[in-house]
Amino acid sequence: MEVKEQLLNLKPYQPGKPIEEVKREYGLNKIVKLASNENPFGCSESAKEAIRQSLDSLAIYPDGYSTELRDKLTEHLGVDGSQIIFGNGSDEVISVISRALLSPGKNTVMATPTFPQYKHNAVIEGAEIREVELIDGHHNLDGMLKAIDENTRIVWVCSPNNPTGAYVDTEKLSSFISKVPKHVLIVVDEAYYEYVTEEDYPNTVQLLKDYPNLLVLRTFSKAYGLGGLRVGYGIGNSSFISKIEPAREPFNTNRVAQAAAVAALGDQTFIRDCIEKNKNGLQQFYRFCDQHQLAYYPSFGNFILIDFKRQGNDVFQYLLERGYIVRSGNALGFPTCVRITIGTEQQNNEIIALLSEML
Ligand code: PMP
Repeated sequence: MEVKEQLLNLKPYQPGKPIEEVKREYGLNKIVKLASNENPFGCSESAKEAIRQSLDSLAIYPDGYSTELRDKLTEHLGVDGSQIIFGNGSDEVISVISRALLSPGKNTVMATPTFPQYKHNAVIEGAEIREVELIDGHHNLDGMLKAIDENTRIVWVCSPNNPTGAYVDTEKLSSFISKVPKHVLIVVDEAYYEYVTEEDYPNTVQLLKDYPNLLVLRTFSKAYGLGGLRVGYGIGNSSFISKIEPAREPFNTNRVAQAAAVAALGDQTFIRDCIEKNKNGLQQFYRFCDQHQLAYYPSFGNFILIDFKRQGNDVFQYLLERGYIVRSGNALGFPTCVRITIGTEQQNNEIIALLSEML
């Protein structure tokens, strides 16, 4: 049986080793995972309560239009319900957009290194991939504009960028968007949006009014702490959203996830608290890097990319054997770096103590 030729170039998704396996292999009782930019404080207690209550109706299919969540989000964002598309994580929204717009003969422009799913989906659709190197961890927006031509269908801007943590400010984003030709969809992936409190961070949703070719991606997987339930969404203009809606699965966000997301959205005190703790955690890592003269990328997300001037895989392995799972820079396009998710104060201290011993 033949599959699309381009699929032969893709490696199957390889999640990190399961925690239980790491425990067994290294004879450890405790594992701390700071590898996937999840929220170390979990999710809001009210989300947990909503999950418990939703368990009584598991036999019933979810609302395929996520009406209650849509209404809550509409209110929260100040947009119309018809401007939102939900996905089984924003991963699914990325795949729906790619399926709707990309095909052989078309191309898509993105930074490199950035979140790998943009490229992954472009490969599946057989589109040409045009990657533009970051400059000091930041998007090279001029370079990306130059890479766009009449066959470009999507340009991806990841802000804050995974894995560097740099964001595109209001002035730069507005200028970029105004120069992108109208036949190109601009996707601004704001997975880490809640963590950025800087005044010059753009109000991207506000820009939707002026640019019909703009789409903003957000998720409940990061600050809201619901990565395990898989809810992400795109916000765009109604006419575009209505065209791509049929390409998603009918019940893509499940009943438990919808209930949890509604409750999580209602608990902004929890979010504010997590943002504050994340900022303090980042400071712990900055102090550690300064003490040891290690270069790092100033981050506006809940992770930090540190240059250890040695193979990222070695640092990763050193921490793994001691029960701390992080992400090696070798897998992220920064071979001498390691990306660490900001943990609780205690987790950060533990990992910093181990790293200090290693240096
Ligand atoms: N975009 C970025 C930049 C990410 O880092 C991630 C998760 N690592 C995602 C999208 C996907 O998030 P989810 O599918 O959990 O919503």
